[in-house]
Amino acid sequence: MIDQIVIATNNLHKVGEIMDIFEEAKLKSIFLTPKQLKNPPEVIEDGATFTANALKKARELCAHSGLTTVGDDSGLVVDALDGQPGILSARWAGQHGDDEANLQLVLKQMEDVPDELRQARFVCAAAVALSDGREFAVTGELLGTITRSPRGENGFGYDPIFMAEGYQITTGEMDSVEKNSISHRGIAFRKLASLLKHSF
Ligand code: IMP
Repeated sequence: MIDQIVIATNNLHKVGEIMDIFEEAKLKSIFLTPKQLKNPPEVIEDGATFTANALKKARELCAHSGLTTVGDDSGLVVDALDGQPGILSARWAGQHGDDEANLQLVLKQMEDVPDELRQARFVCAAAVALSDGREFAVTGELLGTITRSPRGENGFGYDPIFMAEGYQITTGEMDSVEKNSISHRGIAFRKLASLLKHSF
């Protein structure tokens, strides 16, 4: 059992998803977010890759708190947009976290893209920094396509316009248990939970 684990994000949707995944993986701990720490540093996400950003978040909050810290960076990679929005997913339309503007911009940019070329994937890099200096990073991916209009009220970000391979509903129409069972974050954090369980 690890006493306390800091989850290095203030995005409550992500905190909920990550806690559910860790609990399912029987990783018992008290989970904290940066807001529950004293004067948490603001981590600038300026890495060139999802993994670099995930490691940076984990490392900086672990150095600050002295506690085991997990960080993640995730986003949508669209083939027809040359891999974008990628690491810019959260601020694709300009303002950080404006999910509606971000997905509308992707739909607009994909207006003329035919059905057979609408492949995309969600990618998640998950990293952990331990107070003894050890660090691990893993990734998970969910393949799918971009729909032509938004559907569904669940999830966040680009969920209403992402249809996972083998499904006829968007991830915005899935409940959280189903989404976690297939999602990029589910895959990455299950790998991380297993590494964490074997690191102590
Ligand atoms: P992050 O918080 O820096 O990892 O940015 C992630 C951004 O990627 C979010 O703001 C969303 O726009 C998008 N994203 C990541 N994971 C998901 C997901 O599971 N569903 C929908 N959008 C996601």
